[in-house]
Amino acid sequence: MHLNSIHLRNNREWVNQLLSWYDLYKRDFPWRRNISTYHTWICEVMSQQTTMAVVVPRFQAFVETLPDLPALADVSDEVLRELWAGLGYYARARNLRAGAQYIVKERNGCFPESYEDWLKVPGVGPYTASVIASICFSIPKACVDGNVIRVIARLTNCTSLGLWTDEGRLAVQQVVDASIEKERPGDFNQAMMELGATVCQKQSPDCLHCPIQNYCLAYSQMNVGMCPPNKPRKDFVDVRVLALQFHRPTSDSGMQDHHLLVERASGFLSGTLGFPLLRCAPGRSPESYVEELAKCSGVDQVFIEQQSILHTITNHRLNLNVVRVCLASHDSVHSTDADPVAEILESCRIPVGSSIWVSKSHARKSLASSLDRKIWEKIS
Ligand code: SF4
Repeated sequence: MHLNSIHLRNNREWVNQLLSWYDLYKRDFPWRRNISTYHTWICEVMSQQTTMAVVVPRFQAFVETLPDLPALADVSDEVLRELWAGLGYYARARNLRAGAQYIVKERNGCFPESYEDWLKVPGVGPYTASVIASICFSIPKACVDGNVIRVIARLTNCTSLGLWTDEGRLAVQQVVDASIEKERPGDFNQAMMELGATVCQKQSPDCLHCPIQNYCLAYSQMNVGMCPPNKPRKDFVDVRVLALQFHRPTSDSGMQDHHLLVERASGFLSGTLGFPLLRCAPGRSPESYVEELAKCSGVDQVFIEQQSILHTITNHRLNLNVVRVCLASHDSVHSTDADPVAEILESCRIPVGSSIWVSKSHARKSLASSLDRKIWEKIS
């Protein structure tokens, strides 16, 4: 795929304009005040698929509790989960800890200083490695995310659907690689992302205040609304899903209003913390699952909420019902010391990484996905 970027290659004044604008208008984030490798790494992982409004307070609490690499490498699951509450995709937090353990053990606690060495750190991919290498070690590695694709598409007046293919992404990468400012690669990368996030926004770009308006082909050709083209629509698949809300037996004093949250190991919202989700097999009714649940050891009663929640995840349209599973008291269960919830999840073939009972107030804070928040609204 070809991008019409000759004007960007021939006149680098647009890069100077972009950097001057960034120097004046960049947002004041805590990790930008004193650049540190540790802080850059943490904020980069936290801000993946999460808004800055959510990230900033979480970042501060995180680095106050875990101020350095050894603290992160040693942190317990419980504390890590608490610090990550509300950020979603808990696997990212575990990867951070695994990365810290690797650096402490394999590199004597010294951060890698090259792009290639960052790629060896568990959980670090090319994008994160580029961000850290460019910001912390002035290595000219260009970062391409959704914001950068949009800005380049508009600068080059690209209306081709090919932009959303691997080839299109590569073409964008080549334009940014050729444009990156060698003296200030970290600032260049951040300026591109900042422009996409604050000025060249998807819905209503503020072209009148854009520092590189003079170099924007889409603007000069009054074609901004067409760049980039919308991603092709996917064919939707309709699925029935049950969200399980477990209730402690009344004999568990003080714990009855606690909620069971699980780290989803696969399927919808894999890697996030939330209510256990059971995907109904095609042709099988939700009621048949309720009957099966009611027969499980350790279950007292099961109720299904009749009113559904409708939700879309990528090309799946979910029709979801909340199922309330009331656990029997220990005295009335004849079997073993085994955890009844683990047995129930296993018998329903719901793969989970770990599970945790949390108080009502903590549960609300821990739920990061919009689906879990919808379920929460329904049950509370
Ligand atoms: S002029 Fe408008 S469309 Fe072009 S880069 Fe600037 S904000 Fe984006």
